[in-house]
Amino acid sequence: MKLNTHYIFSAGLISLILTLVGKISFSDILLISLFVSFLGNTLIDRVGHEWVMTKYGEIPRRTPLTHTVPRSIAWGFVTVLPFIILIFLLHYNYIRISVDFNYTKYVFPLIISGIIVGPSHMFLDVFTENGIYVKKDGKWKRFALAHFRYDDPLVNGSAVVVGLLMLFLALKLAHLAIF
Ligand SMILES: [Zn+2]
Repeated sequence: MKLNTHYIFSAGLISLILTLVGKISFSDILLISLFVSFLGNTLIDRVGHEWVMTKYGEIPRRTPLTHTVPRSIAWGFVTVLPFIILIFLLHYNYIRISVDFNYTKYVFPLIISGIIVGPSHMFLDVFTENGIYVKKDGKWKRFALAHFRYDDPLVNGSAVVVGLLMLFLALKLAHLAIF
């Protein structure tokens, strides 16, 4: 799936789940979900794709380095880990800044976002040509539920719509919780 599609879909899913978990404001949720979605998906596709020449021109091909479910979770953690470390450094005064602000409330939402971003990427790629990788008898096998082209406008458009709907639902739920 296209990277822009991944950004919107993952951000929608993360914001919806963070809203259900509660604890932080919707603007914080939106910020974290957009941020983690952007960094996590970029990392997964930049590290995990190689460009191969085909009769259709140059197209990206997924590699097992990032495109398996367990590894995608690990890459998601890699994405959020620097921020969690930074929060702890601030909390225990290893870094001193004079702003009185509760950073620790972001640790849990960051961990959840880190867990979700990878599998949400795999979820979309499993519907595109060649799918993702699973290990079978010690060998990498490709696994796909459908074989749409990675840039199929209808499939990408549908994923974007679902992502936006989840974002909208998260907004609605956040308002319900406030009023
Ligand atoms: Zn991908």
